[in-house]
Amino acid sequence: MTVETASNVAASDLTSRLGEVRERIARASRDAGRKPEEVHLVAVSKTFDAEHILPAIEAGQRIFGENRVQEARAKWPALRADYPDIELHLIGPLQTNKVRDALGLFDVIHTLDRPSLAAALAKEFAKLEGRPAPRLLIQVNTGEEPQKAGVAPLEADAFIAECRDVHGLTIEGLMCIPPADEPAAPHFALLAKIARRNGLSALSMGMSGDYETAIGLGATYVRVGSAIFGTR
Ligand SMILES: *Cc1c(COP(=O)(O)O)cnc(C)c1O
Repeated sequence: MTVETASNVAASDLTSRLGEVRERIARASRDAGRKPEEVHLVAVSKTFDAEHILPAIEAGQRIFGENRVQEARAKWPALRADYPDIELHLIGPLQTNKVRDALGLFDVIHTLDRPSLAAALAKEFAKLEGRPAPRLLIQVNTGEEPQKAGVAPLEADAFIAECRDVHGLTIEGLMCIPPADEPAAPHFALLAKIARRNGLSALSMGMSGDYETAIGLGATYVRVGSAIFGTR
């Protein structure tokens, strides 16, 4: 009995952290004149194992984000077998040689960022034979940081058009990760502006430190990790 205390405390702590994030999402939505159900919480579970993820599932969380295909493959098939209504989102870079693996694992890919990946996705989508293809968001490197993935803001319109017209892909929206050392709001506003002029409805923006700001600027997916699961 006593040996279980630590994990029980951690589990109840996680449940209350998750509850607080949900409350803050609802409040930020209302403050922005938006409906809370327009904003989907992607609980970023990278680096945490199934034991840490389960309390979140048991508390009703159903959308999770992972940044590595291999890690997701090791963790999620077993959890999804028990909870078939879970939705898994890829929020990290996707190599073209992992596309096939990714299609079997993820419901949403937030990180379409280059023509070769669009081509590889289109090729694999053609082989799905009626099985649902993951929904796609294009990552925009709003801060034009050389080390960061994503299309440059000035190239976004052309890349969106290429994905649609050349590769026949349906694009749901855009995603960004603002530079760590700058205010995030201008980056969120830029992403929303690019989405608007391209007729895209989904905006994946906002992490633990700035998801309320992102909601104020139109986020429909917020990707929150450490505020729920603790520091990695
Ligand atoms: C890790 C990660 C997050 C979550 O970050 P937190 O600050 O822990 O909320 C969000 N988005 C991406 C792309 C990530 O890699």
